[in-house]
Amino acid sequence: MTKIAFVGLGNMGGPMAANLVKAGHEVRGFDLSEASVKAAVAAGIKGAGALSEAVSDAECVITMLPKGQHVTAVWSDLTTLLPEGTLVIDCSTIDVESARKAHKLAEVMNCSALDAPVSGGTGGAAAGTLTFMVGGTEKAFAMGKPILEAMGRKIVHCGAPGAGQAAKICNNMILGISMIGVCEAFGLAEKLGLSHQALFDVASTSSGQCWSLTTYCPVPGPVPTSPANHDYKPGFAAALMLKDLSLSQEAARQTGAATPLGHHAAELYAEFEKAGHGGDDFSAIIHMLREKAGG
Ligand code: NAD
Repeated sequence: MTKIAFVGLGNMGGPMAANLVKAGHEVRGFDLSEASVKAAVAAGIKGAGALSEAVSDAECVITMLPKGQHVTAVWSDLTTLLPEGTLVIDCSTIDVESARKAHKLAEVMNCSALDAPVSGGTGGAAAGTLTFMVGGTEKAFAMGKPILEAMGRKIVHCGAPGAGQAAKICNNMILGISMIGVCEAFGLAEKLGLSHQALFDVASTSSGQCWSLTTYCPVPGPVPTSPANHDYKPGFAAALMLKDLSLSQEAARQTGAATPLGHHAAELYAEFEKAGHGGDDFSAIIHMLREKAGG
């Protein structure tokens, strides 16, 4: 049993913290939203009214927050609150630069730190089947792995500080591009008079195969569990896809990497969000692509 402070009890953090409780850890949670703290308390987490209260006595602190600025602000506050040797883990999806800044703050505290963003969405958070992509030293990884295992099925050590965030944004850039590619293929098939099922049966067992097709098929029918069969309710909201693509483009600019398709995918998801669809599943972009063809 580890005493854990969990900061950020939203759509992801709430169920993740609940799984830590189920695994026998003592979890104290803090969130700026009282409603989120209340929901967490109902799931067995001890509620805290302030960050300082949540982290007092904690052997490990986990943050699950919206953006880099929230993470660095909270980790800055932690520098005056944590004793040396505490393990601090950030599971949010944030830019690599902020992740590295957070690691530096942990160094100042003489604490071990991990960036450990997740894949698997709210369903994976609730089921405890997330994939964690982890950056940090071998020592910090060895400390954090058993804790992450209570919330996920696959824990991958990607390398040095920031490597977890790097893996996350590279993966999601592939996802955004591949979803648009699959949507375009279905749009072209429709114009050619080829049925959705026929394209699926061929491409899902051929070289066009990918997750966006076989698990998350953007047209209703071939994959009954995909959001297309449920009115395109997320799933993975288009606004979050835009966030991750924007992070990939920020990283590409900073490092000088060429990502022309990632750039265009970000532009298309920005257009989709601007049209009021940020809350739809990201596969719903097929509608916007069809409209571009005039039908
Ligand atoms: P969310 O908005 O539901 O939760 C974030 C929570 O952080 C909110 O409850 C908010 O009140 C709280 N918060 C903000 N600033 C705070 C502070 N200073 N102190 C304490 N609490 C604070 O977001 P979410 O969907 O849970 O996502 C969290 C992170 O996980 C994001 O970085 C997101 O990109 C990433 N992520 C989300 C999904 C998903 O499907 N929702 C999937 C993978 C990764």
